Amino acid sequence: MDGRRKQLKYKAFLLTTGSETYTIAPLMQPLIPEFLDFVQKADHGTGIKGVCPVSRMQRLAAMLLDDSGSVAVDVQFGRQGKLRTLGGELSANLNVVCQRCLQPMQYTLQTRMNLALIRDDADADALPAGLEPLLLEADEMNLAAVIEDELLLALPLVLVHEQDCSDFLQQQAQRQKQEAVMAAEQKVKTNPFAVLKDLHKE
Ligand SMILES: [Zn+2]
Repeated sequence: MDGRRKQLKYKAFLLTTGSETYTIAPLMQPLIPEFLDFVQKADHGTGIKGVCPVSRMQRLAAMLLDDSGSVAVDVQFGRQGKLRTLGGELSANLNVVCQRCLQPMQYTLQTRMNLALIRDDADADALPAGLEPLLLEADEMNLAAVIEDELLLALPLVLVHEQDCSDFLQQQAQRQKQEAVMAAEQKVKTNPFAVLKDLHKE
């Protein structure tokens, strides 16, 4: 088992409200192909540009509010000497839940991948700096699954609104005020004389 996959054990815990959904812009770009002969594509230096809907990535979708987002994919198969590579940019529009105010929000996850295609785990140790190993487990590999792995690795553990969650903070302040009033009322109810004593002191 290669190291990259082991890292996928880190999970983001997202609470979902399930009630709100975002509408996404219609897909302008073609869908990326699913299964490809990675070795052949690397030898041909094939570039792939397109979109991969989050609905095709159920492990990723499980971390999100819903699976209605999409990923813009711009990757290039190629070679560095004898080494076959897969590199490029991913930009995902994801629907998530803010961990601070628990409201739905849209999150853009951008990440770069630099993979070396290897046939044996042992080859992973000899890779040049900056390249992560991708173990070729079959002649035809699922590109969407590789992209999904990259996004899962790049997904922050905790997602919150970039700016203060104003609604959340307002509600919290209100709640604290209410609690203070209730605590004061409770004090009067349980021991009115203590309150009188306090008053005399002043
Ligand atoms: Zn928030």
